[in-house]
Amino acid sequence: MVGAAVATVDKNMSREVFRKERLVLEGARAAMLRSDEDGVSVAPVLAGLVDEYGRLLRQSRRLVTMGDRMQQSLNALNHDLAVSEQKYRGIFENVAEGICRCDADGMLVEANPAMAEMFGFYDSESFLEAVPDFQSLFCRAEDYELYETLLAADQLRRFQVRLCSPESGRLWAEVSASVMDDREAFPGGIVCVLADVTERKHMIEEMRRLARTDSLTGLYNRGHFMELTERELARSRRTRSPLSMLIVDVDHFKNVNDTYGHDVGDKALVTLSRVLRDAVREIDVVGRFGGEEFVVLLPDADRRNACRVADRILECVREARIDIGGKQVGVTVSIGLTACEDDEEDLDRLIKYADIALYAAKKNGRDRVEVYRRSGCHCRREADCMEAMAVRGES
Ligand code: GH3
Ligand code: MG
Ligand code: MG
Repeated sequence: MVGAAVATVDKNMSREVFRKERLVLEGARAAMLRSDEDGVSVAPVLAGLVDEYGRLLRQSRRLVTMGDRMQQSLNALNHDLAVSEQKYRGIFENVAEGICRCDADGMLVEANPAMAEMFGFYDSESFLEAVPDFQSLFCRAEDYELYETLLAADQLRRFQVRLCSPESGRLWAEVSASVMDDREAFPGGIVCVLADVTERKHMIEEMRRLARTDSLTGLYNRGHFMELTERELARSRRTRSPLSMLIVDVDHFKNVNDTYGHDVGDKALVTLSRVLRDAVREIDVVGRFGGEEFVVLLPDADRRNACRVADRILECVREARIDIGGKQVGVTVSIGLTACEDDEEDLDRLIKYADIALYAAKKNGRDRVEVYRRSGCHCRREADCMEAMAVRGES
């Protein structure tokens, strides 16, 4: 740019010098002709022209010096440009991120080796041959639409998206892109930088999974169970649908540990978690509340339906066997049940009521389900309740 401007000045000045030089020569020729024809002395005219010629000669020398200097500046600029180009090439060729350039129609113009490798290709050429346009890397059309919208708004920074390749299958990429400012040098040029974040994404996913599950049984842990239950409670209130909760506690589990050892106890908990999961529906939520206590949330189940599920659990647990070196051991559980009865019910209250019913189940002989009742008696059957209340003189 600077070189071009200097060259323009240089050209104009030379043109002017050459014009004047031509005028001087024409003047000298005219003076000599006149002297031949008229016999007039041309000495004074020639002297003036010689002076003028001398001036032009000095100007020419200055121009030559200026030209040399400009050539030097131009050489320095070209050198700087070559160094920048080399630096850019060095980064482009060796960086771990994929870099590509597309034209205004989304056709890939250039891609670096990292980009080719990211999509399972040996080199840039084979990648560009197999993948002509950037859009074909997107697994879903709506993701590409979002990419285009963000790009148009100049907000495409670390956009995480699932991409696919004919060679390496699917990957998660973080894409940053912008449209190049110098439209003359790069008409419609879009530069994209891609980082393969598949591993990071899987790690985060795994960490999330670990944060919400119990490591021994693989069931939801208490925290995540509470979170899901809050959501279900809100849904149940909104849709006016029933909801029930069971707390399941292993009977005399301390004895299992004391008799067979802690490892067998653990094995029993794993077996129980499987039994619980198998005994309920897909939409039911099973969690380990801590120790040998489990909790089951039954969306869309009223008290009667929840009792059926609880009975099924009791039955399945009774039948389940834990293998201890060939010897089969069985356990039983007690269950406290509560059904959501009004809009006022919140999570803490549900747990409290189920716990009260569980306490009643333990007190009434274990291996049974008892239901929380506002009357204060938590026997499963109404008749038992009446009897218990009669004994206490409450009826
Ligand atoms: P109850 O019928 O009244 O519930 O009696 P219980 O023995 O089951 O109840 P208690 O609360 O006295 O004992 C619970 C036992 O569960 C004690 C504890 O060591 C054991 N336990 C808690 N968590 C684990 C665990 O992760 N693995 C094993 N093996 N045992 C556990
Ligand atoms: Mg117990
Ligand atoms: Mg317990």
